Amino acid sequence: MRLWIRNPLGIVAEAAGGGIVTDGAVIAELVPAGGAPSLPIGEVFDASEHVVLPGLINTHHHFYQTLTRAHPAAIDQELFPWLKALYPLWARLNPDDLRLAVRVALTELLLSGCTTAADHHYLYPKGLEGAVDIAVEEARALGIRMTVSRGSMNLSQKDGGLPPDEVVQDEDTILADSERVLSLFHDPRPGSMIQIALAPCSPFSVTPALMAKSAELAARFDAPLHTHLAETADEEAYCLQVYGRRPLDLLEEVGWMRPKTWLAHGIHFSCEECERLGKAGVGVCHCPTSNGVLASGFCRTRELERAGAPLGLGVDGSASNDGSNLMEELRHALLTNRLHYQSASAVTARDVIRWASEGSARCLGRSDIGTIAAGMQADLALYKLDELRFSGAHDPVAALVLCGANRADRVMIGGHWRVVDGAVPGLDLAALRRSHGLAARRYA
Ligand SMILES: [Zn+2]
Repeated sequence: MRLWIRNPLGIVAEAAGGGIVTDGAVIAELVPAGGAPSLPIGEVFDASEHVVLPGLINTHHHFYQTLTRAHPAAIDQELFPWLKALYPLWARLNPDDLRLAVRVALTELLLSGCTTAADHHYLYPKGLEGAVDIAVEEARALGIRMTVSRGSMNLSQKDGGLPPDEVVQDEDTILADSERVLSLFHDPRPGSMIQIALAPCSPFSVTPALMAKSAELAARFDAPLHTHLAETADEEAYCLQVYGRRPLDLLEEVGWMRPKTWLAHGIHFSCEECERLGKAGVGVCHCPTSNGVLASGFCRTRELERAGAPLGLGVDGSASNDGSNLMEELRHALLTNRLHYQSASAVTARDVIRWASEGSARCLGRSDIGTIAAGMQADLALYKLDELRFSGAHDPVAALVLCGANRADRVMIGGHWRVVDGAVPGLDLAALRRSHGLAARRYA
């Protein structure tokens, strides 16, 4: 059944002033302004009050952290002390609480206009061995596309790492479970709803041997690789002290400098390192809100893009954001980048939209999502400009970022409406808020 999303108020696509036609899961045709579809149409959606964006793609998050937002133990601290304060609380995580946390984070993302989410789950206290399975089940229930990163930590305090012993696993357990979830869930084909990435957590919580073996395993399954890198000056000092190398040199040695690798944060890279990342096709997920909250520093977005590195956006874990609103992240990206580059034209509203769609898709190693074009997946985020904050706005696309849009009116994923009139059909939001709030009390 073909659907014509007709005459949008604004749209981020070339020559689609008359809207777009979707056919099943894909975009079939772009309609020029004043034109009509060339194919027979079954249904029409009047988009004259909507601004249409490619579905937003979030490339870094830790869903479980929604249980410890704005936690007094961690407020106003930088990354290492922040982690040390929260690790013992996170060690209490159980499957029921994780399921609620995942549902909350996915719902927040979806309502903000996100159509593909990536989660990085690296915490495995006893009993939480099915963490990836839970994320997959919840994503399928909501109909959202997802890259589930099977995270890992095998370097705990007893071996000189940062995390406590009870939240890590040994190398054999990690690799066996990574292979299990890759075999069960990873679908690398175009249009895929679930992909699995392997994601050893960070240089101060995993061994180089685990990084290297994860890369070999991911290559066997044509799966992406993900990790935190160059997030803070503390991390750089740790790598120099323990390994005698800078973080990126370490990454290169373990065989990660290749396309389908994407890094969270990527702040403390030199210009020469940005060039190396671009040449290798390694992506960087820019997380401006988290970087601001933890005072980690500025990502060299312009230098990375100029070097050819895919550049995406991520809200990061919900204890360092402390929200999961991807549309808000675009605004923060615009503001922090203009401050960093001290130029009001260095980064535009359309740049940050591109980062959160096309750039994020490239980070995840996908070419079937991220733009509005014929043949691409029908993943769309539609916003209305009917709130008071938009009254008087002229450029509808720029207004989304500049006036601070944070809630989609409609979201389509693979041709299915997953958000209608600003709500997820069939989801009792108040009940979810209540049960998640109750669960979070256990982490007080
Ligand atoms: Zn993170």
